[in-house]
Parts: sequence; C-alpha cells; structure tokens
Amino acid sequence: MSNQKETLVQVRDLSVTYHTRLGPLSAVDHVSFDIYKGEILGVVGESGCGKSTMGKALMRLIMPPGEISSGHIIFDGEDVMQYDQKQLRDFRGRRISMIFQDPMTSLNPVQRVDEHLIEAIQVHEPQTPVEAALRRARTLIEKLGIQKERLRDYPHQLSGGMRQRVMIGLGLVLNADLIVADEATTSLDVIVEAKLLDEFKKLRDEFNLTILMITHNIALIAQIADRIMVMYAGQVAEIGDVTEVFDHPRHPYTEGLLRSVPNIELDEREELYKMGGEPPNLSRPPAGCRFHPRCAQAMPICAQREPELTEISPGRFVHCWLYQDHPQEVAHA
Ligand code: SF4
Repeated sequence: MSNQKETLVQVRDLSVTYHTRLGPLSAVDHVSFDIYKGEILGVVGESGCGKSTMGKALMRLIMPPGEISSGHIIFDGEDVMQYDQKQLRDFRGRRISMIFQDPMTSLNPVQRVDEHLIEAIQVHEPQTPVEAALRRARTLIEKLGIQKERLRDYPHQLSGGMRQRVMIGLGLVLNADLIVADEATTSLDVIVEAKLLDEFKKLRDEFNLTILMITHNIALIAQIADRIMVMYAGQVAEIGDVTEVFDHPRHPYTEGLLRSVPNIELDEREELYKMGGEPPNLSRPPAGCRFHPRCAQAMPICAQREPELTEISPGRFVHCWLYQDHPQEVAHA
C-alpha cells in the first residue's frame, strides 16, 4: 500500500436499527470511519457486534424490519444515501461488491460457473457480448487458480475452496472499487484458507483493490490487513494500523480479544484468557460505555456517560474514557 492515503469511503455517524417486537434494536450505533484506496481494512469483533450489518449497510442492503436510521456513506465523493433504486443497482457490483460466507447458498445450484460470471457481467454491461464476457470470466478464473475447464461445472461439482474462489471471482468480475468480504474464508479448512488469504493479497496488488474484510478471526486479520477496526456492541472500539493495534492495544476490549487468541508460544501450564461476561442486549444496551459491565478498568464515569471516538495519535482512534479528559468529580465520585 502506498504511504499516500487517498480516501475511498467516508462513513459518518452510521446507525442501523431493527424494529423488533421488543422495541428498537440498535445493531450499528453512530459508527464513523474511513476506508483508504488500495488498503485491506479488517473488521473484527464477537458475533452480534454489528460488523456484518455494517458491511451490508455500506451496500444499502438493510431490509425491513431494519433500516439505516442515521448517517452518511460518502463513496468517492458521492453520498450513497441519496441514491435512487437505479443508481443503487449500478453502484452494487460496479463500485462495491460483497463476497458472502457460504457459497452454497449464494450460488445457483442449477447454473454453471461460467453462467454465473457471464450473467454478473451482462446485468451491469448489457452491451458486452457473451463471447467477450466468457473470455473475461476465463482469464479471471485462471488467475484465481481454477482451470478454465471447470467453468462448465455446477457448484456442487467443485470443492469448498473452489466455490469460494468462484464467489471471489463474482466479486471481482466487474472490477468493483471496494470488495466487502464477509467471513469469506470461514467455512474453509486452514490450509485452503491460508492459500486464499495469500491470493487476496496478490489480487489486491494486481487489481489495486480495496477490501473490507469482516471476520471474527482476529489472527487472520494479523496476516492480511493493513488496518484494523475493532467493533463492540454495534460501535467502533478502536481503529488503527494493524501492527500498532496488535502490539499496543489501547481499548480494554481489544486487549481482551487479543489475549484470548490461542498462542503457540504460550506456556502449556498457562490458561488461555477468557473474557468475562457477555455482550449486551442491544435492545437495552447499558448506559455510558457499552463495555463497562465487562471492563476491568471501568471508572465511575464509564457507567454514566459515553466516551467519544477520539484520535489519540495520527490514524489511531479509541472509544474509551481512559484516553479522554473527563470531569474529575464524576470520575472519582
Ligand atoms: Fe472500560 Fe471505561 Fe474505557 Fe469503557 S470507557 S472501555 S468501561 S475504561
């Protein structure tokens, strides 16, 4: 990645609310961050922390009873929230595309691989003849390590790794500027997963892709991402350069998350750290900092007022009172 960071996406104050029988549930709560051109930004957090919902919101794919209840998504200077349905159709696929976790549910079982790819091209580029679309599909699929003869296969004839490569191919075939990969390698065994991660990096370099990689696997992010965003209970806990965050986590939740990753160098008598407590119910999140019931460093103010997401050093943002001035009389009450 070049040192000159050019912003592709600015997400500002983005909230997603689901209207449930128990009342509104704030799955993503006033989230703000940037995605730079050509980077791999890893998004991590426990299940239910809002990372996948946030990825779908970037594509404006939130369906009722959910809605984007506030915020802006500025994509290459344009506010996606202002797009009408026609603009959205063009936006999805050409500018942003998503690779989902489970290829078996995303690929049509009665369509061959080449038919999937040709259809994806022709939906967005109806003027492209079938032969030209097929040539593109062939070149791409070979770059993804699948022999072109397999283009005539149905999804069930491919291995899990190949199916996931086809999904990646569908994400890349229109040269979208941003790929959102949502747990894209979770269903694969570790060897195939490691190979695919390498390929993601190569593809990023070759196509100058920007990738938002959503995963619960923080160790995976260490291998592939340039920056990392840690989410907790629908909010951003911390954002920064991946090495800095791994070496010096600032938010107590990030610290706990990193300590709970299995480490081969760990003394066998040492027990793996387990973070206490449970993530909150997002229909009734706790007041103040949402992490305070589980935080060993909580102060009185943490239960009363929510901290701001604060830039503590260039490019390093933390959502925690430990890094913000706060009224002493409340802090030491
Ligand atoms: Fe812990 Fe307080 Fe920071 Fe929340 S704001 S993470 S409770 S120290």
